[in-house]
Amino acid sequence: MDTVVSGIRSTGNLHLGNYFGAIKNFLKMQNENNCFFFIADYHALTTHPKPDDLHGNIKQVLAEYLACGIDPEVATVFVQSDVPEVSELYLLLNMNAYVGELERTASFKEKIRKQPDNINAGLLTYPVLMAADIIIHKANKVPVGKDQEQHLEMTRRFARRFNMMYSVSYFPEPDAYNFGKQLIKIPGLDGTGKMGKSEGNGIFLADSPQEIKKKVMRAVTDTGPTAPDQEPSEPVKNLFTIMNVVSEPSTVKHFTDSYAACTIRYGDLKKQLTEDIVKFTEPIRVRINDILNDKVYLHKVVSAGAEKARESASKTVREVREIIGYRPF
Ligand code: AMP
Repeated sequence: MDTVVSGIRSTGNLHLGNYFGAIKNFLKMQNENNCFFFIADYHALTTHPKPDDLHGNIKQVLAEYLACGIDPEVATVFVQSDVPEVSELYLLLNMNAYVGELERTASFKEKIRKQPDNINAGLLTYPVLMAADIIIHKANKVPVGKDQEQHLEMTRRFARRFNMMYSVSYFPEPDAYNFGKQLIKIPGLDGTGKMGKSEGNGIFLADSPQEIKKKVMRAVTDTGPTAPDQEPSEPVKNLFTIMNVVSEPSTVKHFTDSYAACTIRYGDLKKQLTEDIVKFTEPIRVRINDILNDKVYLHKVVSAGAEKARESASKTVREVREIIGYRPF
């Protein structure tokens, strides 16, 4: 049995990228493995949310997680800040993480570009906290999207460095995981980069059918293929990538064939894509609203999750302290 850890920042609603990059894999694993699923609300502080927003976002993301089918009866579902042990491991790991390697992280460089007025130390040490989240439960597998590949490599490095430094084989080196073998990247609808929470290019699980329609119909395309078997442009490829995860294979084939034959009409493609996305998200959206209204259930889930996660985390921190040399008098 593997130990699996997966997390999502509580900085905005879940989108199709989160679902197909991480959650879908986790759903396939939760019944056979020792699974931990958490809301990364310490990480969320790097963007300085207001106190009321912080709480509201945690609740929303939790409800969205559960609505996707994460089962708190089999997986440990918890909120990061309910497990303060992680902040101690984060502190300890920070002593063996080097500023140079943190500064070279692609996500840090991107954040510098995006929020030049708020380059806080939390952003720099973001991968260390992420590593602590993962190795505190001694995870072997972490279902993530392609965008997290580098962070996972750093997690492996921090685990290996700890083991070497203290001549132990204490932490496993966790693998970034996807059932399809390759990590995936769901693109945005704007013809560039990945779908993201703050990129303004996402389709959210909580979006209404009208919102989804508006977004898909506005998606960037091109003037259409002019020669048989022409390579699609980036924005059109992106629409096909999304279609690949939400539509039936026969639908994808129909549009791939009509693209190759230069008979495709992007209006039809978008209409079909809208329909298939709505078919996929609508049941989740209904469950999100039901769960959000059930305060007793939400409280029960996070309390039980915190207790189970703390049990696992405090054992690790106790053993790590011992390895480092903090011994009882
Ligand atoms: P975040 O939204 O950055 O907290 O990411 C949470 C999880 O969703 C991570 O495992 C990411 O790898 C995954 N993820 C986020 N955006 C995408 C995307 N566009 N494609 C695939 N996976 C993604």
